[in-house]
Amino acid sequence: MSTIIHRKDTRPVRVGNVMIGGKDEVVIQSMTTTKTHDVEATVKEIHRLEEAGCQVVRVACPDERAADAIPEIKKQINIPLVVDIHFDYRLALKAIEGGADKIRINPGNIGKRERIEAVVNAAKAKGIPIRIGVNAGSLERHLLEKYGYPTADAMVESALHHIKILEDLDFHNIVVSLKASDVHLAVEAYEKAAQEISYPIHLGITESGTLFAGTVKSAAGLGAILSKGIGSTLRISLSADPVEEVKVAKELLKSFGLASNAATLISCPTCGRIEIDLISIANEVEEYIQNIKAPIKVAVLGCAVNGPGEAREADIGIAGARGEGLLFRHGEIIRKVPEEIMVDELKKEVDKLAEEHYQK
Ligand code: SF4
Repeated sequence: MSTIIHRKDTRPVRVGNVMIGGKDEVVIQSMTTTKTHDVEATVKEIHRLEEAGCQVVRVACPDERAADAIPEIKKQINIPLVVDIHFDYRLALKAIEGGADKIRINPGNIGKRERIEAVVNAAKAKGIPIRIGVNAGSLERHLLEKYGYPTADAMVESALHHIKILEDLDFHNIVVSLKASDVHLAVEAYEKAAQEISYPIHLGITESGTLFAGTVKSAAGLGAILSKGIGSTLRISLSADPVEEVKVAKELLKSFGLASNAATLISCPTCGRIEIDLISIANEVEEYIQNIKAPIKVAVLGCAVNGPGEAREADIGIAGARGEGLLFRHGEIIRKVPEEIMVDELKKEVDKLAEEHYQK
C-alpha cells in the first residue's frame, strides 16, 4: 500500500480567519439546507453548525435572491462563508462583492474568457480562494468520451484542466475536491490527485446516504483517504440535519488524532461483569463532552476488573463498582464516589481538565 503524506506539503490557503492546508489539521465544513435567500433561517442554521464545531460553512447560490442575501448573512455569522455557484459568473461576482470568504465554482464551466477573468480578478482583489469541485457525476463530456465512464484519471484530468485555467491567469489561491459517491472511485481519485496537485484538497464522499448508512460509508471512504495523509478539509454529505455532518466529521477526525479541539469518549463494549447502567451513562457523557473544545480522552467502563488498566490512555474516567464508581486517571484509581453522583463528579473533573487546557 502506498503511503502518501500530502496534507502538510500543500500550499496554505486562507478562508476568512481559517487556514486550509500546509499543516496537519483538517478543517470541518458543512453546508446549509435552508433557502439561502431566507437569511433568518440560514443564519440560525449556521449558528447551530458553528456551535457543533463547524469551522467553515457553505451556502448554495442558485439565483440572484441568494446572492443578494450574502452580505446580510455574513454580518450575522462568525465562521467563514463559502458561496457555491454553478456556471453563472454574475452570481459569482455578486457573492464576492457581498463578502464571500471563498467561492466554489469550476472556471471551465463559466464560459467566455472575459467572464472567467472577471471572476478571477474579483477573487484576487478580495484575496479569496476558489474551490474547484470535480464531481464524478458531472464530468465534462469530452472526458466521458475519452474514458468511457467516470474514472479516477478522468476526474483528475478534469481538476487539472480547471486548475490550469486559473494558473494561466496567475491565480493560485485554490482548493480542489474530487467527489464521487462510489468509495473505490473516490479513494483512487484522491490518491492520484494528491500526487499531482499541490493545492489543499477538500474531501467528500458525495450522496453518501442517510445518517446511519452515510456515516458508515463516509467513514470507510474518508478514513482510507485520511489514513494516507491526504485531505486538508472535509465535508460529510448526509441526507440529514447538517449538524449531524459536523458531529460525524469531528468523530472521524478524532479517530485519526486530527481534531485538536474535541474531547473523545472511550466506553467499554459491556459484558456480564457490568456493575452500572453503562449505556445510558456513556450516552450522557458523550452528549456532555460535545461542548468541550479540548483534546481530552474520557473513559466510561462497566466494571473495575480490567477497565482502568485497559483505558490507560484516558485522561479521566469512571469504572462501575458495586454501588459506587471508581474515578481514575491514566489507569490509576484516584478515588471512590457514590454511584448517584459519579457522573456529576466525572463531569467536574472533565471541566477541570478542559480549563487547564484552555489556560495553556
Ligand atoms: Fe466487561 Fe468490565 Fe470490560 Fe466493560 S470494562 S467489557 S464490563 S470487563
